[in-house]
Amino acid sequence: MKKLFITAFGLTSAFASYAQLQPAKQTPESSELWDPIPRIVTAGKPSSAVSGFTAPSDAIVLFDGKNLDKWVSAKSNGGAAPWIVGDGAMTVAPKSGDIQTKETFGDYQLHIEFRTPAKVEGSSQGRGNSGIFMQGIYELQVLDSYNNRTYSNGQAGSIYKQTMPLVNASNGPGEWQTYDVVYTAPHFNKDGQMVIPPYITVIHNGVLIQNHTAIQGTTPYVGQPTVTPHGRGPIKLQDHNNTTSFRNIWIREL
Ligand code: MG
Repeated sequence: MKKLFITAFGLTSAFASYAQLQPAKQTPESSELWDPIPRIVTAGKPSSAVSGFTAPSDAIVLFDGKNLDKWVSAKSNGGAAPWIVGDGAMTVAPKSGDIQTKETFGDYQLHIEFRTPAKVEGSSQGRGNSGIFMQGIYELQVLDSYNNRTYSNGQAGSIYKQTMPLVNASNGPGEWQTYDVVYTAPHFNKDGQMVIPPYITVIHNGVLIQNHTAIQGTTPYVGQPTVTPHGRGPIKLQDHNNTTSFRNIWIREL
C-alpha cells in the first residue's frame, strides 16, 4: 500500500511539474522528463554455469543450486520440499508431490531454467512433464516438446489447456532451457468478479511464445477454467511423475 501511494504520488508530481513546464513554444527540453530517475540495478552475468543470466542485484534468488530452503511441499500438511538437489539443480522426485515457494508474490518477473530427461521415455504428455504455476494456480506448461506431438495447448510454453505458445522454441531432451516470464496478477471486485485477468508474457530460450496473454482462470486437466478470488500466491512446481530438473530460479517483484 505504501509503495502504491509513493508510486501514485510520484507520478502525480511528475505530471504536475511536466504540465507547469509546458511553454507556449515547444522546445526539445519541454518534452524531457528528468524525474524520477530509474533506480540502478546491477544486471546478472551470462554464465557457463547457467543457460540464461545469473540473478540481478534486486532479485530474490529462489534456487541457487545448493538447497531447497526457499521451498516447501505443496501438500496441505506442508513440510520440507521432497525433491532431489545435486549438480546445481533440483530434480522432481516422482510421486513426492508438487513443491512451492515459502514466499508469495503478486506481479513479477521470473527467470527459471528447466531440463527434461535426456533419456526419452513416454510420449505426448508423459514426456518430461512438469509445470510452473503462477501464484500457485495458473500453469505454464513444462514438457519435452522436441519432436513430441501432443495437443497444442498442452505443449511446452502453453498456458495449460488455454493458450498454445506462438511457436515451439524447445531445445532437445537433456538440454537446459529458459523461461523468462512477466506476470501480473488478476484484480477482483468486491463481489469476487475478475475485473482484470492475470496477464503473462513468456520468452522461451530467447523467443517470445506468450505475448501479454490473458489467463482465463484455473488450468485444470478436465473441464473449463474457473475463477476464484485470491491474493498473493507462491510459485509452484509440478511433480508429474517425470524426472524434470530446474535451476537458476530468481524473481523480481514489480
Ligand atoms: Mg504439466
